Order: sequence, then C-alpha cells, then structure tokens
Amino acid sequence: MTAGVYLHVPFCAGACDYCDFYSIPLKPQDKRIAAYIDRLLAEGEQRLGEGKVTQIPSLYIGGGTPSLLGASGIGRLLRGLTALGGQRPGEITVEANPESMDAAFLRTCQDAGVTRISLGVQSFHEPSRRAVGRIGEGALLPERLRLLSDMFPRAFSVDLITGLPFQDASIVQQDIEHVLAFEPGHVSLYALTLEPGTPLAEKARTAGVRPGVLPGRDEADCLWIAGRDALEQAGYEQYEVSNFALPGKRSLHNIRYWRMENWLGLGPSASGTFINDELGTGRRMTNTADVDNYVASEKNQVLEEDLDRLTLMKETFLMGFRYIDGPDTEVFRKRFRLSIAACIPETLAAWRNKGLMEPEKNALTREGLLFLDPFLLDAFTEVERGIKIEDY
Ligand code: SF4
Repeated sequence: MTAGVYLHVPFCAGACDYCDFYSIPLKPQDKRIAAYIDRLLAEGEQRLGEGKVTQIPSLYIGGGTPSLLGASGIGRLLRGLTALGGQRPGEITVEANPESMDAAFLRTCQDAGVTRISLGVQSFHEPSRRAVGRIGEGALLPERLRLLSDMFPRAFSVDLITGLPFQDASIVQQDIEHVLAFEPGHVSLYALTLEPGTPLAEKARTAGVRPGVLPGRDEADCLWIAGRDALEQAGYEQYEVSNFALPGKRSLHNIRYWRMENWLGLGPSASGTFINDELGTGRRMTNTADVDNYVASEKNQVLEEDLDRLTLMKETFLMGFRYIDGPDTEVFRKRFRLSIAACIPETLAAWRNKGLMEPEKNALTREGLLFLDPFLLDAFTEVERGIKIEDY
C-alpha cells in the first residue's frame, strides 16, 4: 500500500492563545525527547507493518514544534524513519519555529534529505503577537528567515495569520512584504479562527479582548483578501483555501489530504485514514492525545472509526473542494463508481450560474473558495437526498 506519513511532535516552548493543536510545554534538550523519539520509531515500525505500507511518497513532521527536538533529535528521527520506510520519500517536510531553529538543525535536515521547511511566523507585528500570546520574539524573525533562505532557497514555507488583534491592512501588507523579501517557495495565509476551548476564544467570550481590538468579521475577511491579493500579485498562486505557492512548490503531502489518499498518523493526537477504493469506504485511526501514556505504553490507544460510503463521499467533497482543481475526477469515479456531476448536479449548476464554479471543471473559482461552507452545505444536502439506502 502507498501512504503519506504524518508524525506529530507534541512539544512547544509555550502555548499560543489561539492554538488548539495538542502539545505540552517542553524546553530544548529535555530528556523526555529521546524517549519520545524511540517510541515514535517503534510505533512507525508497528503501524507501517500492520498497514502493509511499502511506499511512502511524502513524510511530514509537524506539531507542536519539531525544531524543539534539536539537531541530534531530528537527525536520529529522520535516520530511523528512512531505515523503516526503505526508499526515501520524495517530499520530506519539517515544521520549525524561529526560536528553536538554528543552522545546526537545518544542516542536519539537509543531510537527512529534508526537502521543505515550514516556519511558523504568523506576524512581525509585536502588539499583535503579544495580544495572542505568540511564543518567541518578532525581532528574531529576519535573521532566522535569512538563515532559512540561505540553506533552503525557495524550499521553505511560511505561515502567516490575518485577523489578529491590532492588525490593519497596512500591517498585513508589511508582514507579507517582510516575508517575500526572503523568497519562500510557499506561503500559508490563515484567517484567525476562535477555536472553542482555546484561551483566545475564552477571552473573546468574556470580553477580555475588547471590541475593536480583534477585527470584526467583515474587517477580518477584508484583511485576508488583501493578503491574498498581495501574494497573487507577487506571483504566488492560490492552490487551496489558505495556501499559495510559486510554480512547482505546492505541498505534495497536503495534496494527499485534499484528495483523500491514504495517510498514516503517528504520535499522540495524530490521525490517519486508509481508503478502500474497491468498496468506496475508509477507516480512520486516531491516537489518543496523551504523550505520557504514549511513551509509557508499548501499544497505542487508537480510536478506530469506519467511514461508510456516504461519509467518505462527503469527506471527499469537504477536502476536495478546498483544492483549486477540485476533487480528482478519476479517483472519485473509481472510488464511488459515480461521477461528481451525477452526485451533485443541482449544486454544480447553481454555483456555476452564480459564476463561482469553474466553467470546464468541477472546482470552485478563486472567489468561490470564499464561500466554501455554503457550497458544501448545498452539496451535502443534495448527496444525502440522492443516495439510496442500498448504495451503502
Ligand atoms: S508554537 Fe505552534 S503548535 Fe505550539 S502552541 Fe504555538 S501555534 Fe500551537
């Protein structure tokens, strides 16, 4: 079987107020790092064997903060994974944060065959960073971006966020100009969301964040659109809701998610999905989010969930229509023995009439992507209405 592999590193130097990824606070060189890498490699060996995964086209080490593993930790992890997987994946991405990414870390990544680094910048604007408890100093960013562009020229991605407190259009523009001066191959531009249960959502709910400090909804939308336009004017193509790339620099690993192709998730809270194209069904496996238990036990606690035909079809729409080319037509037909046009004809026609669907393919236009949620609501309603019980 062919599957991409995602590894979760659940450690951060602190906790950003807007973040809902699973992580625990940890300092560099903490002795728990070595035990964690041992356990990840053991899980990798076990799960690759159980899933009969023999081809790994892409490997993504995310978190949390993988650069907290340090040069020796990331080197050991990458060498161990390469030994497990046989052939080296064509794309290997490692996420990093500026305060824990240094030249030794990047050199080890180069030597181990890493093809992309993804750096969490979010914003240069110090009041915005402080207002959401962003870890690290904005003043460090130019030096770290210079290092990255020297060692991984155009082979790195930068994360930015719009809609932060104290942001306006000129600050978004400045953030983008600062980043583009280092010529990343790829930029992810996220609109801030108040994820339930995060400290930022709680502050907003209790009015701890004053009205006027967090941009209102319309203003936040305008900020993201201003950022999108600035990236496109600079030659970065929007190829997914939040992702922009120079030609040839799209993230192949993330495209696997948007096409709902097999991937395996390793580490606490990581989730993977295997698709059965013969039956049009899938299986989701999610590790419990408990790093201490994960390291202490030999067998993970994995929550398993069957994705029936209707659920998988809806997920294929959910993920596929995020992508600028839409869901892969041939993969869809092979998986469900139906065409996309046969499943949601009314939705496609209605959105095409609105000018928000590409004329020649089943994909939302760049403007249509701004209305992904109402589009999906229409598509789900139609597919639920149309699928008969015997289709399950
Ligand atoms: S560093 Fe990244 S993963 Fe860690 S808390 Fe901040 S946003 Fe979340």
